[in-house]
Amino acid sequence: MAFVYPDAIVSTAGHVDHGKTQTTYALSGVWVMRHSEEIKKAMTIKLGYTQIGIYDCGEEYYYSDGILQNGKCPNGAEPKLIRRISLLDVPGHEVLVATMVSGAAVVDGALLVVDASQPAPQPQTVEHFAVLDIIGVRHMVVAQNKIDLVTKEKALENYEQIKNFLKGTWAEKAKVVPISALHRVNIDALVTYLAKEIPKREAELGKPALFSVLRSFNVNPPGTAPDKLRGGVLGGTLLRGVLRVGDEIELRPGLKVDKPKPGYQPIYTKVLSIEYSGQKVEEARPGGLVGIMTGLDPALTKADALAGAVVGKPGTLPPVWTAVEVETRPIPRALAEKIEPFKQNEVVLLAVGPATVFGVVQAVKKDAITVALKKAVCAEQGSKVVVIRQVKNRWIVTNYGTLKG
Ligand code: GDP
Ligand code: MG
Repeated sequence: MAFVYPDAIVSTAGHVDHGKTQTTYALSGVWVMRHSEEIKKAMTIKLGYTQIGIYDCGEEYYYSDGILQNGKCPNGAEPKLIRRISLLDVPGHEVLVATMVSGAAVVDGALLVVDASQPAPQPQTVEHFAVLDIIGVRHMVVAQNKIDLVTKEKALENYEQIKNFLKGTWAEKAKVVPISALHRVNIDALVTYLAKEIPKREAELGKPALFSVLRSFNVNPPGTAPDKLRGGVLGGTLLRGVLRVGDEIELRPGLKVDKPKPGYQPIYTKVLSIEYSGQKVEEARPGGLVGIMTGLDPALTKADALAGAVVGKPGTLPPVWTAVEVETRPIPRALAEKIEPFKQNEVVLLAVGPATVFGVVQAVKKDAITVALKKAVCAEQGSKVVVIRQVKNRWIVTNYGTLKG
């Protein structure tokens, strides 16, 4: 059977501890990485992702990998795979919201997880929703989670709060599906609405390939003999075009060099193999998260060293920036909090294209700031940029705009 490509990327969203990771697990049957360590080290921003198959078992609701029983329909029928989607498990931590943003162009839809046992909305629910709004996500399903903890009356009250929160927004008509991720209650209804509400990404196959590197790995166990070493692996997603095994590729910003003058040197290599969750294919397409093994020295790709880079055919990539001027429109919650104006020399975190980088504010204008970046980024002029600032010792998303130059 031909490989069924994942055709959309869905990001989780919602307040910390509301059950995003548990819901991802219920849907996929796979525990994605836990983030506690990364949260301590704000510099290493990682993203958990998994792919889920959605199956027709001839019943009212679909099934997902997490609720099939040993790969079979509980009613005994043979599961019919109807589509695959990729799920990003976004941690609730503020800095990491940036990762969701930086995946920006990537996200086709959202799964907002809300804890039914708490008043809604909680602060990060509001903030994540604002970010989804800004990055242009327009398809969402709400999982009203932990219904095992509340009475029917409480659940209904919470449902009204969620509906109220979304009233008047693009998500006003979003389906709210009561679930218990922990006890796997109603996961079939949830996956059915995901399958119906999140559109398939139109594969922009004809355009030049643009691959966004979200993770990078050295897949060799320690002590591997040099002749057995496997090339560096890039995990991420194609924003447009296709990449094939054997393609020559360029990676930017690339390597930091001091000579002949300080700057960045693009890296050229080749696609050696392509994998979707362990399944080898000849071609990567937009809409899913994919691993690309390259001819790169694995030392270059270890521990996400190349996360935030972009890859394409040589000569087709956007410019590299070491300083940027960005617009600074405030996001709604930040407005309410009356955040101080930007200060010269303030350290900010910027999500630009696929990269999340620290920078130092060089100049402050009325609606824009100029920022010297700690690490270069490769992005089109006009790309979305999200600004994350330290406010009372917390990193929060405060502003957004476009990359002016
Ligand atoms: P996240 O921060 O949004 O990713 O939240 P987690 O998925 O890590 O869940 C936070 C806590 O809530 C964990 O202790 C989970 O076991 C618990 N939890 C998640 N879903 C449910 C549920 O449906 N019912 C109950 N009772 N607990 C849940
Ligand atoms: Mg989590």
